[in-house]
Amino acid sequence: MSDSIFTKIIKREIPATIVYEDDKVIAFNDIHPSAPVHILVVPKKPIVNLLDAAPEDAPLLGYLLEAAARIARDAGIGESGFRIIINNGKDGGQTVDHLHVHILGGKTLPITF
Ligand code: IMP
Repeated sequence: MSDSIFTKIIKREIPATIVYEDDKVIAFNDIHPSAPVHILVVPKKPIVNLLDAAPEDAPLLGYLLEAAARIARDAGIGESGFRIIINNGKDGGQTVDHLHVHILGGKTLPITF
């Protein structure tokens, strides 16, 4: 399977504005931001989406959310609040087949479904 665009960012093959990285996850600014703060948190393990996650990935999924909260706080939106979105598959609006958490904030977000 060819590398996803996010794996290419992890490998530094394409540029991104990286705001956080450790041995398990990387976070960078979304290239087309939908809010003043729009950060993507991506596991380095190339899981396609939640449907592709195995039971043994549960600690990594928990870590992804814990890291997202830390990254949101560090981005200055901990007090004002933020939204976490994980799109899964076509109807869920997923366009990049590598699991990622959207952190959105920096303004009052509209409720849209
Ligand atoms: P999805 O629709 O949930 O799969 O979200 C994919 C997100 O990745 C979109 O918000 C895109 O704007 C973003 N994106 C796509 N390519 C890049 C990139 O090269 N750098 C940063 N963000 C990207």
